[in-house]
Amino acid sequence: MTKICRTDMAKLYFYHAPMNSGKSMLLLAKAYNFEERSIPYLIFKSAIDTRDEGVIHSRPLGDKPCLIIRKDELFSEKFDCYNTDVKWILVDEAQFLTAAQVDDLSDLVDYAGINVICYGLRTDFQTHLFEGSKRLFEIADSIEEIKSQCDCGKKNIFNARIDKDGHVVTEGEQIEVGAEDRYKSMCRRCYKDSVK
Ligand SMILES: [Zn+2]
Repeated sequence: MTKICRTDMAKLYFYHAPMNSGKSMLLLAKAYNFEERSIPYLIFKSAIDTRDEGVIHSRPLGDKPCLIIRKDELFSEKFDCYNTDVKWILVDEAQFLTAAQVDDLSDLVDYAGINVICYGLRTDFQTHLFEGSKRLFEIADSIEEIKSQCDCGKKNIFNARIDKDGHVVTEGEQIEVGAEDRYKSMCRRCYKDSVK
């Protein structure tokens, strides 16, 4: 009988969702599940700025510490990936990863046999793919959508940035530090209506 090497079974997963759809909660639920089953895992979050304190926030499940990965770092440099018990890696804010970091994650899957689940947004406030999400759509083994509903009942697709008067903003930097609470997820139709 041929022995199946565990490196053949690992996968790169991408769970994408609009903002405020419970991504962090799903990530933490996965983490608690690993803990219950004594499965070694790591949580990473991609840092958008130096203030990032290395915590996954979730109101229902409480906060959990995580490792931070900066744009100029690779996952394979952050721990001894070829000599580890770690079986799973969970990555939050995966939209902010660089393409090189996503490729590096795929190497952990293919050569170190570590399963990787990335959680992230599909598109930015201007409705275009983030770099990390684009690369994940290109190379992930499995892609799943976490769904949430717009006020009108349709599925949320976009993450609109809202100004202090409550209007949708269409100009600006892709990542605006400190603006994390000024987003509203919307369906495509409601987004179009609100930028008219
Ligand atoms: Zn809508």
